[in-house]
Amino acid sequence: MKHIYTLEAITEEMELLKNSFDVVRLVQSTDCVECTLTRAANGRIDISEQPCRSLFPNGSNSEPRISARTMAEKKCVLTFERSEGQIFAVYSKYVEIEGNKLTLELAKNVTESFAGSEGGLNDMMRELDRQSIQLITDDLTQVHNRRYINEHYMNVGSLDGLVRKGVDFCLAIIDIDHFKDINDEYGHQIGDETLVSIANFWKKVFMAYTNTFVARYGGDEFLVISMDMRYEKFVDSIKSYYAACHKCHLTADGREIKYTMSIGCAALKETKNSLFSELFSTADKRMYNAKQSGRNCIVCGN
Ligand code: GH3
Ligand code: MG
Repeated sequence: MKHIYTLEAITEEMELLKNSFDVVRLVQSTDCVECTLTRAANGRIDISEQPCRSLFPNGSNSEPRISARTMAEKKCVLTFERSEGQIFAVYSKYVEIEGNKLTLELAKNVTESFAGSEGGLNDMMRELDRQSIQLITDDLTQVHNRRYINEHYMNVGSLDGLVRKGVDFCLAIIDIDHFKDINDEYGHQIGDETLVSIANFWKKVFMAYTNTFVARYGGDEFLVISMDMRYEKFVDSIKSYYAACHKCHLTADGREIKYTMSIGCAALKETKNSLFSELFSTADKRMYNAKQSGRNCIVCGN
């Protein structure tokens, strides 16, 4: 599919698309800005940017995510999104306009096309909601799952837009020490309860923050991702909450179940290319160092 354009060709194509779509725009998805391109007197392209307004009434942030994927994979993505009782078709395409790498984003309200009884439509939308939440949620602990992390961070290319905005993107990888022994000693169900309890603990301590959340990356490994505070504060919080967690315990058959964790922390600003995969690998190495240093500790790089 064609993705290389001159300014004149993309302008013409966008004018035509306006006949079929409610929104036709060019976006720089990593910075989450809409771009207007004009030809300067010297023949070069001038780009003016304004904040990306949401395509949907409730300000869902899914469209930058869709475009981020388009950008990273240099391809087209078509999805259906629902917002406040309306269904939108969102189409996103990677384009290069005289060397400028952008995303062409198109959206159309297609609620009418899903004709049928009002009840049927509501049921379908409820089901769509339920399924889309289920897809990104860990069954056992009800925190975000690995798919969520991959879709939002691992597979979206560089996060340098966040760095430029001054956001400190922090990650902690938390792995339970000798978790296998808990399963072996108390049984799988108590093992499950331990996982739920640990997920809830980390979720609760960061509850007051809007952009800090917990995910289960797999097995007995959890992530805390934060975009709310400086890395130094993030590390201090993890340390003090972990100290508090020590005092937490579970009881099974009247016995206290004690567990410890090994934690590796890192910040996106430490990475070379602002990629989540680099950040993950730094934090993972530190978590491994924590294991090597006898477990039950936090390694944060300073
Ligand atoms: P280490 O300190 O090196 O991390 O040792 P560990 O025993 O925690 O690590 P290991 O990777 O050997 O074992 C992880 C265990 O987690 C093995 C697996 O059976 C268990 N596990 C993975 N997912 C679940 C789950 O959903 N429920 C329960 N109960 N156990 C799980
Ligand atoms: Mg473990």
